[in-house]
Amino acid sequence: MQDKLRRRYQVQKEVTRNGYFEGEIALSKLERLGQLLHPGDGGHDDRKISVTFEFVRDEYDIPMIKGQLRTSLELECQRCLQSLDMPLELEFELMIDASDELLRDSSLDTIYSDDGFIDIFEVIEDELILAAPLVALHEDSSCNEHWQASASEPEAAAKENPFAVLQQLKTTD
Ligand SMILES: [Zn+2]
Repeated sequence: MQDKLRRRYQVQKEVTRNGYFEGEIALSKLERLGQLLHPGDGGHDDRKISVTFEFVRDEYDIPMIKGQLRTSLELECQRCLQSLDMPLELEFELMIDASDELLRDSSLDTIYSDDGFIDIFEVIEDELILAAPLVALHEDSSCNEHWQASASEPEAAAKENPFAVLQQLKTTD
């Protein structure tokens, strides 16, 4: 592992030289993500996200960022409100500044640069927020003996988002 990554990268420059980066980001730097984490003891403060990514062009000459990340999040179990450790490992592949037309034809999503720069922290944070379960639950369904009484609440919350059901399946299998 190299040392810490910087936040901002100039897209054209990095794509041209096929820039490849590897390093760690402190979870505590990602404030939006922090709102999804267990509020308890702040134990996530020294957690890190291991990241590798590279800048490439696709076959249509569109700049892209491809990478992977690995971390573990301390979430809050919605059944017992205790902390729940969730390892996450995922790959991402995003176009940069793709037109609406390209977006329609591609299976990939795009990010938009800020004056030609992207902020890798933002990219990673978005990926983690998408990947984190909306309703985190311990695998052991008896982690809260009073669960039956309040079972309807998280279910109702889950219905508001069509992805929640999938996310929930993912956490409980
Ligand atoms: Zn629990």
